[in-house]
Amino acid sequence: MRLLIIGAPGAGKGTQASSIAEHYGVPAISTGDIFRANIKGGTELGKKVKAIMDAGDLVPDEVTDEIVVDRLDQDDAINGFLLDGYPRNLHQVEALDSYLTANGQRLDAVISLEVDPELLIGRLLKRAEIEGRSDDNEETIGNRMAVYTSQTAPLIDHYAQAGLLVPVDGVGGIAEVRTRIIDALDARS
Ligand code: ADP
Repeated sequence: MRLLIIGAPGAGKGTQASSIAEHYGVPAISTGDIFRANIKGGTELGKKVKAIMDAGDLVPDEVTDEIVVDRLDQDDAINGFLLDGYPRNLHQVEALDSYLTANGQRLDAVISLEVDPELLIGRLLKRAEIEGRSDDNEETIGNRMAVYTSQTAPLIDHYAQAGLLVPVDGVGGIAEVRTRIIDALDARS
């Protein structure tokens, strides 16, 4: 299984990604988690991306693309993966396509996790209290939403036209949404 999961900030991508990936026996690869781990570890990459993430902007494509390619080249991703948070704009879509084509691979499905925008901000502010992510504050959330709408939302049309889109209602309990995703994916194969 080669899967993407797309959704607005707060849609629950990360929560669902790990359990869906586990279900299909593939690694969940989250660009946001990779960046956060680098910030925590004080690496050069972490220093480069900290201010960008705190502002809610996208890390430059050349940095992100390289990280994803290096990760997909690892042994555990050879037979499949679930990418969470990548691609996030049309340039990244092309970069991923080139990688897959060069490796004789293709995507099986793109999960689009749909949540009413009005619910998203409340979810993020609640998460801020629990996890303390430095980009979960009102100002940064506003910018992340704007970046999502202008740069990432167009990917939904793109993948719909490619016949890969699997829209899933992301409102409900974690287990309920998980079941919806797995049922929708299994209905395709
Ligand atoms: P969310 O979807 O809730 O914003 P993520 O963990 O996916 O959470 O992303 C957090 C931040 O990490 C983004 O706001 C951005 O700064 C950076 N980031 C993650 N993935 C990408 C990507 N594919 N391209 C550029 N920046 C990214």
